[in-house]
Amino acid sequence: MALHGTNQELGRPHNRRIVLEAVRRHAPISRADIARAVGLTAQTVSTITSELETAGLVTMARDHRVRRGQPAQMLSLNATGAYALGVQLTPGLARAALVDLNGDIVGCQEQELADDSPEAIFAAVARMKRSISAGAARHRLLGLGVAMPGPFGVEPMSFVGPTTLERLKGLAVRDRIAAGTGLPVFIDIDSSTGAMGEHLRGAGRGLKNFFYLYFGVGLGGSFVRDGAVMGGTHGNAGEIGHLPMVPDGDPCACGNRGCLERYISLEALRRWLLAHGVRDKRADLGKLAQARHPALMAWIGEVAPVLRRTIVMIENLFDPEAIVIGGMAPPELIALLIKACHPLLPSLGNYGGRTSDRLLVSTVGADAALQGAGVLALNRLLSPRGEDAATRDCVIDLIETARSAGLRRKAS
Ligand SMILES: [Zn+2]
Repeated sequence: MALHGTNQELGRPHNRRIVLEAVRRHAPISRADIARAVGLTAQTVSTITSELETAGLVTMARDHRVRRGQPAQMLSLNATGAYALGVQLTPGLARAALVDLNGDIVGCQEQELADDSPEAIFAAVARMKRSISAGAARHRLLGLGVAMPGPFGVEPMSFVGPTTLERLKGLAVRDRIAAGTGLPVFIDIDSSTGAMGEHLRGAGRGLKNFFYLYFGVGLGGSFVRDGAVMGGTHGNAGEIGHLPMVPDGDPCACGNRGCLERYISLEALRRWLLAHGVRDKRADLGKLAQARHPALMAWIGEVAPVLRRTIVMIENLFDPEAIVIGGMAPPELIALLIKACHPLLPSLGNYGGRTSDRLLVSTVGADAALQGAGVLALNRLLSPRGEDAATRDCVIDLIETARSAGLRRKAS
């Protein structure tokens, strides 16, 4: 996305987002370089960066790499200047993370849900918000991003079946969480926030284009291009779990037969293990994989051919640099599944001069969706991309809080 400011006074809130975004993307960066990059006057950039410094969002330091003359003031993000909460909701589990302005997780909690009732879910989120943000400056916690199973707004598929949160169907989830936490709330599909987390800190870092396969209770996916998750017309693109990959296969809650996530998902694996006499506890899957447990290896042998064909389809559709497989499944399990898919079938993935693997195991695992959820909130509240969704100007709030604190200090 190109960043361009407007040299008109009315454009100040937009320009603040533009300048802050330039720092988020290119720090450390000088004011002169920001002005050049976003097409604003040096004076406007100087005024705005002073405001952002007052708000505590950026810090300035002299660039001492310059040997001659007065070194330029370089701007960087102040990681502790603002926070967001990332929340992940999935059948049986709620997780929350405090994410700083750099997009890094600085604290994390989770709660198993005895049932997936709305009351249990909303109470768990409110409880985790209170405990995780205790001690942090309250006005610096700007908002909350939620990752949950998709797709959204599709009658036969949304909030239907054991891989979704069925009991939230028809509820104003955003409003209920906002009321319980007092924060502005933004919601996206877990595979989309996971793709964002993987792009920022995981195996997708440094890749221009990649497809992220979210292996959670269900199965989802998202294509990331130039750092942006491609959402499609309704934000649901990549709903790979409901591709009917097995002709006349198992019936699925969506109404089709042979959907991919009936075979490849933690829910499918749980059913398989139960049928083979293994009680599945979420934390034990990594151990079962390390021990090459016979029931688990039999499942891998059963589903690997389906995944192998799916990989061809993804590569031929998107021509990605790589497919990153992550989500809530333990990395040991994903690695075994990838191994069982080899040799991979011919596809666009066999492009000439290829130096990297076609399939990569996530390096951030389950945290990707959580981190991406926090960054979703920061983006909506601070970046030009989120401008339409903003309900209030967080930066103004931070500036005013800082100024009134300064006045109180002077008065005392
Ligand atoms: Zn389906």
